[in-house]
Amino acid sequence: MTTWRDLEDEAARWAEAGRAADLWWRDDDAANAGPSLDRLLAIHRDTGVPLALAVVPAKATAALAERLAREPGVDLLQHGYAHVNHAAALEKKIELGLQRPAMLVLGELGTGRMALERLFGRRPLTVLVPPWNRIAPALVPTLPEIGFTGLSTFGLRQRSHPVKGLLAVNTHVDLIDWKNQRFVGEAVALGALVSALSRARTSGEPIGMLSHHLAMDAEAWDFLRSMWQRATKLPGLRLCPAHGLFGAEGEGGG
Ligand SMILES: [Zn+2]
Repeated sequence: MTTWRDLEDEAARWAEAGRAADLWWRDDDAANAGPSLDRLLAIHRDTGVPLALAVVPAKATAALAERLAREPGVDLLQHGYAHVNHAAALEKKIELGLQRPAMLVLGELGTGRMALERLFGRRPLTVLVPPWNRIAPALVPTLPEIGFTGLSTFGLRQRSHPVKGLLAVNTHVDLIDWKNQRFVGEAVALGALVSALSRARTSGEPIGMLSHHLAMDAEAWDFLRSMWQRATKLPGLRLCPAHGLFGAEGEGGG
């Protein structure tokens, strides 16, 4: 059973080596303002941990834009287009797959980018977060051509750049047990975090925490808040904003 003590020990290993692990926070499915979003933003504000919000372009409202105008420090990412599943009955859910012509899927992403710009101006990063963390590999090489410089899914990345001009920065800890629609539990969440951090000691990969403000139960909310409260006090962890992790790409960095 992984405990908070294990997280402290892992952070200490980084600190003893004179290093700090890059840790970041992504929250998905933002579309409208409301109490859940306010609750999320309160944790961001109270703990000072940088937050990246993946916004669904086709569902994003003017009320969301107004609410986020008051939170200029929050990074915005593009969460697919409409978060609509196009998979066949027994396939895993996917919006950005090959069930439809590639030109149509990529065209939607361009329309989505324009929808975000209408609401948020130039603020959204050119980073794509595929709904259900899934995208057909055949579509990935075209992403830089339509303006994306970053891609964020779930799990250890295979390479830092899936294709030239596209940086992958993923998430590794999902707070929700989707099958049972509840918090995965402290030991599971901490286990995923500690294991990802320990692998990052050799790979250098930034490690991401994934939350869903519209789907969390009380236990998930409690964990999220106490985890960030603790993480900000651990010397071997560096809490990074998405614009910092992805930012070098826009300046032509490797
Ligand atoms: Zn989503």
